[in-house]
Amino acid sequence: MLGLMQDWPLLCHRILDHAARHHGAREVVTRSVEGPVHRTNYGEIRARALKVAQLLERYGIREGQRVATLAWTTWRHMEVWYGAAGIGAVYHTVNPRLFPDQITYIVNHAEDRLVFADVTFVALLEQLQDKLPCVEGFIILTDRAHMPQTSLRNAQAYEDWLAQADGDFEWAALDERAAAGMCYTSGTTGNPKGVVYTHRSNVLHAMAVNVPDMVGLSSRDRVLPAVPMFHANGWSIPFSAPLAGAALVLPGMKMDGESIYDLLENERVTFTDGVPTVWQMLLAHMGQSGKRLSHLKRIAIGGAALPPAMARTFQIDYGIDVMQAWGMTEMSPIGALCTAKPETAALDGEERVALQEKAGIAPFTVEMKITGDDGQEMPWDGTSRGNLKVRGPAVSSAYFKGAGGDILDPDGFFDTGDVATIDANGYMQISDRSKDIIKSGGEWISSIDIENLAMAHPGIREAAVIGIAHPKWDERPLLIVVPAEDRAPGKTEILEFLAGRIAKWWMPDDVVFVEEIPHTATGKIHKTVLRQQFAGYSLAP
Ligand code: AMP
Repeated sequence: MLGLMQDWPLLCHRILDHAARHHGAREVVTRSVEGPVHRTNYGEIRARALKVAQLLERYGIREGQRVATLAWTTWRHMEVWYGAAGIGAVYHTVNPRLFPDQITYIVNHAEDRLVFADVTFVALLEQLQDKLPCVEGFIILTDRAHMPQTSLRNAQAYEDWLAQADGDFEWAALDERAAAGMCYTSGTTGNPKGVVYTHRSNVLHAMAVNVPDMVGLSSRDRVLPAVPMFHANGWSIPFSAPLAGAALVLPGMKMDGESIYDLLENERVTFTDGVPTVWQMLLAHMGQSGKRLSHLKRIAIGGAALPPAMARTFQIDYGIDVMQAWGMTEMSPIGALCTAKPETAALDGEERVALQEKAGIAPFTVEMKITGDDGQEMPWDGTSRGNLKVRGPAVSSAYFKGAGGDILDPDGFFDTGDVATIDANGYMQISDRSKDIIKSGGEWISSIDIENLAMAHPGIREAAVIGIAHPKWDERPLLIVVPAEDRAPGKTEILEFLAGRIAKWWMPDDVVFVEEIPHTATGKIHKTVLRQQFAGYSLAP
């Protein structure tokens, strides 16, 4: 027997409708790409997103067709997301920090018909446009006054384009399983693969993370997403914030410490999220200037391992609640957040900081397991290490156009490629990417653990650990260090600092000093490049 409740498809634009109706005047503040701080609200964003939808339909964009964005986090970018998805088209965020060849590959693979781009990417697109035959035109996210001279074909200023619509339009009636958005994985090996979000997955994910033990936004929050919209579905903030009616403070293109600090403080931000590299810049600025944050209450840090030293500074020195976050593009993206359960709520001070070394607990909708190489499930005892697999309604079932083949195990679990432990309270902790873990004498060494420890040394700005081939042990750890500007510790000092804090057989066999550690387009340490750089490195036997 079927139940007798209404069939109300979970569609992204219903989130914006809700925000406009119940929180219509709630502010959306942006540091615009043109410079000045711009203010709008959910009511206006909805009205303009409807114009985007109307114009895309009038132009002939049909259900399932893709439009690309090469854009910073701004109110206009949000309008394009909602407008495109609102007619059943698919917003495709392109990460402008990728190599030009990768951008070309991604846009062609997705067959994007139009590209919405910020003025900062016009020159890049001019170079690429001849290699992008599928793109029929470019809409530059600015007004006439700031529209650059450009050779881009069919280029228009967004505000002029938008002025051609009256917004008298209705969202399309769609299947909730229809594609809404796309984001390609950063893929350190092989070609990037397209993750395709559905309306249903975006809405369910936004609801699942908006509970008190997760991101838990409320209409009293003011939220600054320091993670760009082209990273992993913008960590869902463009959906979870309007769903809660929270005010938004969007950083545009300026991610340096001073610019982020100014927005956090002047706009009274209460919650923010982003990758560790952004927070490193913020902490450096605050450290140098002696400034403090008087409104910020909570910060979610993820996308890469959270160095405990960073958790300590935010938590203990500045009194801001830190939550490690783990997730991936394929998961919409949040898979775990480190918040307190009754079993951990009493932890304070250093113990609280130590808890933040864990990636955290899964939200409802994410099922998790760790398995050995034989596929057998491993216990949740905090020490058994296994391949982390996930399943749920906001987890990918396949990549666009079948790239990579079948990606699920027989039980429907997706292998994240991460190696993790899960403790008895359900707190998951990432040890490594499976291809980065160091295999020494049949045992596993976590590069992340050594990196975290090394970065607690005041003379180390950044640290990376890779496995180097070893005649006896298969692999041994090599510690690669960027020294702090004002202090350069020697190899012996660093090894003495590590000694006693990690198992003897985990101690790096050598320490090398570099000026810079390479990063991927999403801010992670680029271990593939490091392994190439140190390919010929030989350790003393
Ligand atoms: P992406 O799809 O670009 O967001 O990358 C996802 C990958 O980033 C994950 O599979 C992890 O390897 C890594 N990652 C994300 N969050 C964390 C975290 N808190 N700690 C360690 N690695 C993380």
